[in-house]
Amino acid sequence: MSGKKSTRTPAPDKHQKVLVKEGENRLWQIINHLSDAIILADAEGIVLMVNPTAEKLFGGSKDEFIGSRFGFPLRAGETSELDIISKDGTSKVGEMRTVEIQWGNQEAFLAAIRDITVRKKMEEDLRIANEKILEQQENLVEEERLKVLLQMCGATAHELNQPLSVLLGNIDLMRNVDENSEERALCVNEIEKAGERIAETIKKIQDIRHYETKPFGSTGRIVNIEQNLHVLSIEDSDDDYARIQSVLEDIDGIQLSRAATLEEGIKLVDDISPDLVLLDYLLPGADGFDFIRALKVKDKEIPLVILTGQGDEMVATRLIQEGADDYLTKSRFDRESIATCFRNVMEKGKLKREIRSAQRKISEMATLDELTGLYNRRYFMEALDRERARAERHQKNLSLCMIDIDAFKKVNDKLGHTAGDLVLANMGKIIREWSRQTDLPCRYGGEEFAVILPETDLEGARVACERLRHVVADNRVQWRTGPIRVTVSIGITENKIGVKDSLRKLIDRAGEAVYRAKETGRNRVKIR
Ligand code: GH3
Ligand code: MG
Ligand code: MG
Repeated sequence: MSGKKSTRTPAPDKHQKVLVKEGENRLWQIINHLSDAIILADAEGIVLMVNPTAEKLFGGSKDEFIGSRFGFPLRAGETSELDIISKDGTSKVGEMRTVEIQWGNQEAFLAAIRDITVRKKMEEDLRIANEKILEQQENLVEEERLKVLLQMCGATAHELNQPLSVLLGNIDLMRNVDENSEERALCVNEIEKAGERIAETIKKIQDIRHYETKPFGSTGRIVNIEQNLHVLSIEDSDDDYARIQSVLEDIDGIQLSRAATLEEGIKLVDDISPDLVLLDYLLPGADGFDFIRALKVKDKEIPLVILTGQGDEMVATRLIQEGADDYLTKSRFDRESIATCFRNVMEKGKLKREIRSAQRKISEMATLDELTGLYNRRYFMEALDRERARAERHQKNLSLCMIDIDAFKKVNDKLGHTAGDLVLANMGKIIREWSRQTDLPCRYGGEEFAVILPETDLEGARVACERLRHVVADNRVQWRTGPIRVTVSIGITENKIGVKDSLRKLIDRAGEAVYRAKETGRNRVKIR
């Protein structure tokens, strides 16, 4: 009951009283049909009325509630969340809005409570899902960073793993051996050695990172997004773009461009090569998936952040699976979250590039010979098979020449292996420059080279090989004790169309021709 005299209205007359009562009854009839729970309480919080939805939400009958104190504080104009434990023990979450009204001749509170249990559960699930995604992303970035670092310093995970297992294994062993025993000393020794090997690899990683790292603020991240980042915002709404602009303006070094449609965005990606794309998920007649597909078609990899509306987190997760790097909701669009997001996405992009270049290097290493820069033997075998099949298919000539350096052993013996290596590298260069675009020059073994000559008959090959023989004989490799001169013996054979010799037979025939060249005095070309 309100005890505040001054807030009371003057006593109404009888007619007025009847009208008010009728009004209240009608209002309560409406309230009885609302899907929100409604509690009417006096200024002290004593319940005057409840509607059926409230009976259901709180688990009890009207008669039980009326006259009792409403257990939650009522404050007019405020929205609050209630943890409701109903009589049957189930817990629910309600969202309560309270207004002050005049009821009868007293001030009262009318509280509307909406059951938001399901919404809260979904929000919580989404929050957990988001956290998981972020955690997975972080782990992925960490994993990829470690892989790249290992590759860059020339190590493999195995190289860390092996000494690590030794170290852990020996620690285990140590637990079971006597403190002063010889065994214990051995374990300590092993642990020390393994530790040193791990430390060496880590030092290599640190050396690489040392000059690559640009710490950002207190987070110690590697990519500094505040150094000139060209962001392309693909956004159809002027209002949303104005907000993007105002937030990004706050961050130094960000240059912002805008596209209002997907088509314009795709065109600008080509024209201005932005560092990062901030894409509104929903555009007129298109969505984020269309953009990702368009980038894939163009074989473009560009850091991509999707801007979604509230509640679109599920879509965002799918977009990330399809290739987007991260997402921001329009409601979470502030300087801090953008800076963190952009930084992570740029870092991820950098790692992706590093990984790709490392992979390219690895695949080059698998096909090229390091010393001479020519194709290696494995590639040669594959290429010979492929080229011969092509020659058969098109009824074209194919010649194969084997080149062997004469008396190469003497170079090694007299001048040392380093001089020998230099001669080999130089031979690689000569053969590369001598061969045509379509030829496939390979290092077959130690000081033996093989060149596949597509669309070349025996005579054509002989003329070309004579020229090579002269180039080599006229060439001098500079060495500290004086110029080195070597000669080569070359054997040539051709693929006989329709005969279907094995590759081995073809190579052996070229080898026999080399042997003949050697037999007849070296520094010559022979055909077989
Ligand atoms: P021939 O005129 O009969 O071909 O005599 P040769 O000395 O060239 O032939 P042989 O096969 O007896 O010797 C080849 C030498 O090439 C022996 C080997 O040590 C050397 N060799 C093979 N691979 C390399 C390499 O990668 N670097 C260096 N420096 N030497 C190599
Ligand atoms: Mg040889
Ligand atoms: Mg030789």
